[in-house]
Amino acid sequence: HAGGVGGPGTLDGLLAQMASAADGFGALFDMRIVQPAHLQAIIEQARELLVLRNLREIQEATRARREANASEERIRRLTEQSRRDPLTGVYNRLQLEEVLEREFASAVAAGQPLSIAFVDLDDFKRINDRHGHLVGDQVLRQFAQTLQRMLRSTDLVARYGGEEFLVVLGQSNETAAARVLQRILDETARTPMAVVDGHPLHVTFSAGLATRDGGTSPFADARAMLQAADQALYDAKRRGRNQVGQHRY
Ligand code: GH3
Ligand code: MG
Ligand code: MG
Repeated sequence: HAGGVGGPGTLDGLLAQMASAADGFGALFDMRIVQPAHLQAIIEQARELLVLRNLREIQEATRARREANASEERIRRLTEQSRRDPLTGVYNRLQLEEVLEREFASAVAAGQPLSIAFVDLDDFKRINDRHGHLVGDQVLRQFAQTLQRMLRSTDLVARYGGEEFLVVLGQSNETAAARVLQRILDETARTPMAVVDGHPLHVTFSAGLATRDGGTSPFADARAMLQAADQALYDAKRRGRNQVGQHRY
């Protein structure tokens, strides 16, 4: 080979070049992986990513929870709606049947009195005929509100159909229930149920009361009570309306 020992182009020279290049790689590795300052930076970056990810997860969980709450609220509202009569807002017949069965069973179990009353507006057809169905609807709404206002929150008012309502008075014996119904008769006489051409419109109603008293009840079930209340209502109508009929047994 040409050239002196260690000079360019010799084996020694090449080896010397490789050694210095290897030193350079070593420095490069030091910088990328081992240097403590850079390790710290990498760890901090990782931590930031983790914090961001946690934040995103919290946001997603919050949104999911909010959506679940909204669905629950929607279901609750729809369920409540399905129990209500759309015209008057009082309970409908479906809910009535459920509550009545339940109230009857718990009255029997506890040996407590239970009263129910059919309430039917007097000569309501005439109101529709004279003033139209929209006024009739307004009367039904106002009357239902009056019923609700006069009862305890634990009592139940349901629209049985047409201009007939059923009132369920828990833990009320015949005397107490008759007193409540008389108060409602008086309040109804005082309360205009609609205003037609500037004139207040008044209505009356008849009611049929049936009571399951403590231990000595002739009623086998809720249905039998309904029948008795219906019969008492019929008697009240026949005796001249605007009064409460009581089931006799
Ligand atoms: P009674 O004193 O014997 O009970 O006489 P009434 O006229 O009240 O009884 P009837 O059963 O003859 O008439 C009930 C009327 O109620 C007939 C029907 O058109 C009316 N009605 C039923 N549902 C509604 C309603 O949702 N809106 C209105 N405006 N009228 C209704
Ligand atoms: Mg009727
Ligand atoms: Mg009627």
